Amino acid sequence: MSLDTQTREIREIILQRIAVILQDEYEETVQEHSEEYLTACLAFKSDPRLNELRLALNRIQRGDFGRCIFCKQHIATETLRTTPTAHFCDSCANALRKRRGPQLS
Ligand SMILES: [Zn+2]
Repeated sequence: MSLDTQTREIREIILQRIAVILQDEYEETVQEHSEEYLTACLAFKSDPRLNELRLALNRIQRGDFGRCIFCKQHIATETLRTTPTAHFCDSCANALRKRRGPQLS
């Protein structure tokens, strides 16, 4: 699997977040930050945040990470750095927010 620098960076962010949740919420001792180790730790957990992060890792493996599920455009790297589980590009996210109205934003 060869990934570009940017995707590798985002993958590290995802793995880091998984490790933090495992340590803080499940009080697990995380011995290493490799993808194999961390995804094995996730195997029997039904935490929705961990699930989202795991799905993001799956998308990286499949090579379709970072695309908006709405318009198929690339999601901005800045957005993925802060929200690696983002499904929408900034403009679709904004459009959805407007449609939902101010009460939910
Ligand atoms: Zn979009």
